[in-house]
Amino acid sequence: MDNSPIALEARYGANNYLPLPMVLERGSGVYLWDTSGKRYLDMMSAYSAVSFGHSHPELVATLCEQANQLAVTSRAFHTDQLGPLLEDLCRATGMARALPMNSGAEGVETAIKAARKWAHRVRGIPDGSARIIVAAGNFAGRTTTIISFSSEAQYRSGFGPGTPGFDTVPYGDAAALAAAIGPETAAFLVEPIQGEAGIIVPPAGYLRAVREICSRHGILMIADEVQTGLGRTGRLLACNHEDVQPDALILGKALGGGLLPISMFLARTDVMAVFQPGDHGSTFGGNPLACAVARTALRILERDQLAQRADELGSYLLARLRELRHPAIRAVRGRGLLIGLDLWPQWVSARSFCEALMSRGVLSKETHQSVVRLAPPLTVTRAQIDQALSAIAAVLDTITSPQESITPVRGDALPA
Ligand SMILES: *Cc1c(COP(=O)(O)O)cnc(C)c1O
Repeated sequence: MDNSPIALEARYGANNYLPLPMVLERGSGVYLWDTSGKRYLDMMSAYSAVSFGHSHPELVATLCEQANQLAVTSRAFHTDQLGPLLEDLCRATGMARALPMNSGAEGVETAIKAARKWAHRVRGIPDGSARIIVAAGNFAGRTTTIISFSSEAQYRSGFGPGTPGFDTVPYGDAAALAAAIGPETAAFLVEPIQGEAGIIVPPAGYLRAVREICSRHGILMIADEVQTGLGRTGRLLACNHEDVQPDALILGKALGGGLLPISMFLARTDVMAVFQPGDHGSTFGGNPLACAVARTALRILERDQLAQRADELGSYLLARLRELRHPAIRAVRGRGLLIGLDLWPQWVSARSFCEALMSRGVLSKETHQSVVRLAPPLTVTRAQIDQALSAIAAVLDTITSPQESITPVRGDALPA
């Protein structure tokens, strides 16, 4: 019997992912190694969770020290780590208050609960009637409530009934947002750049227009920066590109330094004030282990000017990709080190492109069939970006006509 890790996953696991066919066993900085000893450049960084690179020595040191000191207590007790992290985050982002959770989805759930209760308490919207506007193409996680407002049929199909109370407007269209606001609208939940939708950058001025519309109508602007936050797009927050201060903000992914999950819901004082003891919580949320790692992560981000690095190296990568001008390339989009290479499906699927990149020692992952995501750790060097660019160019060289596109590899069906 095949007892390889891949076979064991196939035999005992759920089929809810379609990983590339290799097994990783080690990571350091921007590199990963598989069980055969082959080295890869990580151009994916765990969907932006590994912005500091794998096993960053200072983050690992904090993790080990704090694990030996105090790791998990629950919020039933104060710890010496939570308060300082909340202060660091509020100071860095300009928000007044912060509430810790674990996954990004829990951060978004917290935002939804806060917005609804705020609408009831502060705006006088009857309990149970508040509505939240979202943008088409959104990705905010996988809970039953969050998938209820996804525009991806696959994310919802078979998982109903959904949670009501959401209205969808086209992304990047401020006039559509203004038109969709009604008396029961509590908030607009938006990603400043849509990551999972295929790295969709909205038109210039969109975030500023959204800010103005939300203020004018007295609804909350909630920025989901789980993926775009913490330097990824070349600023601490992607909202900073347009000098926009949201009323509430969700962070996650990179906040855990690539070592553990921690997310954060940040908001104005009057919004956070809706939460009273017993209203909301999480056993692991705000645990001192995660807080200590997050504090070190923030310190490294500022000290090493990683946002500025993402800005410079991202502009370089974007410009070099645009110079490639291969007929298989439909578009190159992005900001900072969050870049999407959009390919014509008639020429090549993003999946087979990623498999070809893998064989050349570069790891990435497709999103939405046609887009190859390029989002390395923010610690990447220009030379390493050049290495990724030559692999991309080499793969493009093998694609000489639309007919040569390879059929995408599908996951094995689960045994009956
Ligand atoms: C990944 C992501 C989430 C969900 O985070 P999880 O940790 O996977 O629950 C939410 N919002 C955005 C924009 C994301 O990219």
